[in-house]
Amino acid sequence: MTEHIEHLEFQAETHQLLELMIHSVYSNKDTFLRELISNASDALDKLRLETFRDKDLHADTSDLHIELAVDRDDRVLTVRDNGIGMSRAEVVDLIGTLAKSGTAQLRKQLLEAKAGDQQAEELIGQFGIGFYSTFMVADKVTLTTRKAGENTGTRWESEAGSSTYSIEELDDVPQGTTVSLHLKPADEDDHLFDYTQEWKLREIIKKYSDFIAWPIRMDVERT
Ligand code: ADP
Ligand code: MG
Repeated sequence: MTEHIEHLEFQAETHQLLELMIHSVYSNKDTFLRELISNASDALDKLRLETFRDKDLHADTSDLHIELAVDRDDRVLTVRDNGIGMSRAEVVDLIGTLAKSGTAQLRKQLLEAKAGDQQAEELIGQFGIGFYSTFMVADKVTLTTRKAGENTGTRWESEAGSSTYSIEELDDVPQGTTVSLHLKPADEDDHLFDYTQEWKLREIIKKYSDFIAWPIRMDVERT
């Protein structure tokens, strides 16, 4: 396959929302992981449902799970699922644009919620801007995905503050979705927010994702 990377503009509203995430007003950034795990869990649910509905779907449903991996040297946190995945069009529609209405309203409410973190977190969940919350902790986010039953995969990538994202078609992508976060530099004094630490990830999962029905595996070296 020929190498072909496209650079697309975010919608103005989407970009504004991203900016808001980057310069996040929330003290609790931990919730980005809840959002990623919830997306992964939804993707596994959807795959299971789809294989019941469509007997001809060529999908791998053995060993459905969610996996977290850390590359501590490069400060990359990866959340992977082998669920339904996304087509290229779906990546552009669902991740690249903010198709949902009420974005302006959401921004307004988020700004007002500044004082009460709890409320801001509820808003993030409620309005479904889950994926963008990764920009609270990452300066670059890469999403690689292949939809169950399709041959070609897609990589989406964007850097914090950029008004564009890139889209690339790829071969040899495993079924499902992998989200890699290039974590912002950790504050030396504040190891409590070091998302390369296994204990930290476990703590967040226990707090926010304890009810997730799918196995969550960890591939993180201990210090
Ligand atoms: P929400 O989950 O509320 O819809 P998100 O921003 O978290 O909002 O995700 C947007 C959409 O992107 C999801 O609805 C889903 O269609 C798609 N998506 C996100 N993560 C995944 C994933 N891991 N696997 C498949 N689709 C995903
Ligand atoms: Mg979500």
